[in-house]
Amino acid sequence: MLRRAGSHDHRRWLDHTAATRGCVRPVRLTGELHDVDTTTGAITRTRHTHELPDGVIYVPCGDRRAGVCPPCAETYRADTYQLIRAGLVGGKGVPHTVAGHPAVFATLTAPSFGPVHTRVVNPRTGQVRPCRPRRNVTPCPHGRLPVCTQRHTESAACLGRPLCLDCYDHAHHVVWNGWAGELWRRTMIALNRALRPLTKLHGTTLRVSYGKVAEYQRRGVVHFHALLRLDTVDPDDPDAILAPPAGITPHDLAELVAGATRATGFDTPPYADTGHTWPITWGPQTDIRAVTHGLDSGAITSDAVAAYLAKYATKATEPAGLPITGRLTADLVEHYADAHTHLGRLIAYARQLGTRPADWTTDDQRAAWHDTYGRLERWTHMLGFGGHFATKSRRYSTTHTRLRAERRTWRRTSRTDHWRRHHGDDDTTLVVCRLTLAGIGWNTTADAQLAADAAARAREHRALAREERTTSKENPSPSA
Ligand SMILES: [Zn+2]
Ligand SMILES: [Zn+2]
Ligand SMILES: [Zn+2]
Repeated sequence: MLRRAGSHDHRRWLDHTAATRGCVRPVRLTGELHDVDTTTGAITRTRHTHELPDGVIYVPCGDRRAGVCPPCAETYRADTYQLIRAGLVGGKGVPHTVAGHPAVFATLTAPSFGPVHTRVVNPRTGQVRPCRPRRNVTPCPHGRLPVCTQRHTESAACLGRPLCLDCYDHAHHVVWNGWAGELWRRTMIALNRALRPLTKLHGTTLRVSYGKVAEYQRRGVVHFHALLRLDTVDPDDPDAILAPPAGITPHDLAELVAGATRATGFDTPPYADTGHTWPITWGPQTDIRAVTHGLDSGAITSDAVAAYLAKYATKATEPAGLPITGRLTADLVEHYADAHTHLGRLIAYARQLGTRPADWTTDDQRAAWHDTYGRLERWTHMLGFGGHFATKSRRYSTTHTRLRAERRTWRRTSRTDHWRRHHGDDDTTLVVCRLTLAGIGWNTTADAQLAADAAARAREHRALAREERTTSKENPSPSA
C-alpha cells in the first residue's frame, strides 16, 4: 500500500480507477482503444491499455446484490430510486404531469404452503402478538401441535420456518416461485382488460404502467412490491404518456388492481409422468394503497414508495437466510439440500422437481422441459424464482441503461483538461475499444483498499455538495 501511495503516478492511478466507484471485484480489460473522428471516420489515435496504469481498464462489476458488491449495489439502488421516482413525479425524460395520474402501491404475496412462525405487531398497542395461539388443536399426522405461544423477537431464527417441516408443502412452494413471474404477467393482462369499460366510458384508451421489485419473504417465497400508474394512450404516439381523464381516482385504480389479483390464477402444466399440476394464485394478504404526493392518512407518499422499492432491489435471497450468490453446482446442492431444514428441503425439491426425467430424450421433450419445470433446476439457488428483481413496463419510466449512460457522459464532461486533451471533443470523437478480459478483481488487497478509500472520499464529497445545495435552497441568502 505504501509503495502504491508513494509512487509518482499514484494520482493518475486514482483517476484511472475512479470509475469503479470502489467496486470490490472490478473487471480488468486489456486491448486497444481507437479514437475515431466521427466526421471522417478516420482513426486519429490508437492506444493500448499497456500505456495505462496497471496495463488494464477497470470496469465496475455492476452487481445489484449488496451481498456481492456493496458499492455497485449502492449505485444500482440509487438508480432504481431515480427510475421509480421519475415514473411517479416525472423527470429523466418522463413528463412531470405524471404526478397527477392515479397511482397505487401494491404488495402481492404467495398463498400459504403451511403454517410458519410469524411476528405480528398490533398496530394500536405496538405489542408483539403471540405467534400461533390455538385452543383445542389436534396434533398433525406427525404428532406435532400446530401451536406457538411465543412472542418472537425480530431476529428470531425460527421466523418463516414451518411449525411442522413434514406438513409444509415445499413442492408447491418452489413451483409457485417458478411461476410467480407468469402470475404477474397474467394479472397485468387481466388488469388492462378490466380497464375496457372505463375506456368505453371516456372514449380514450387507458393503460397501466408499472415498476416492480421482487423480494424474498423469510419463508423463502418471492413477493412483489409494485407501483402502478394509470395513463392514457396517445393513438398517434404510442410512446407518449398522457394524463387519464379526470374523475378516475387512485381508489378506483386500487379496486381494479384488487379485482385483477383475485381473478387471476391458473394451473401449472402436468408434471412429467405423474400429470400432477399445482394451482398458482396470489395469497389473500394483498396490500394495495393509493399513492399521494403529499400526506394523507392511509395513503403512502411517492418518495417513500421509491425509497422502499429501491432498497429491495439490491437484496437477493438473504432475507430468507440463504447467502448464495451464484448458481449451485451439484456438490453445493448436496451440501445445502439438508432434509432437516426448511431451506434445505426447498433446495432439494427445486433440484428434484427440475431434473429432467431420464426417458425424456427427444428434442421436443427437452424443449418442453426447459420451458416448464426445468427452470426449477436452473434456478435452484433462487429457490425456483428465475425472474428479474427490478422490472418495469416499457413506458413506466427511464431505464437503468439510460441512467448509466448519463453518468458516463457526466463523468466525461466533468473531467479535467487532462481528459479533454487526451480525448478530444466528445461530439466529434468516438472511442472504439477492442478489449478482452484480463481478469476479475484488484491485483492486490492494497489496491482494493486504496480504491475503496478513494471511492468513500468521493461519496462524502458528493453528499456534502448535495447538502450544501439543499440547505442553500432552504435558506436563501438575504440578497437573493
Ligand atoms: Zn462491483
Ligand atoms: Zn412461533
Ligand atoms: Zn406434520
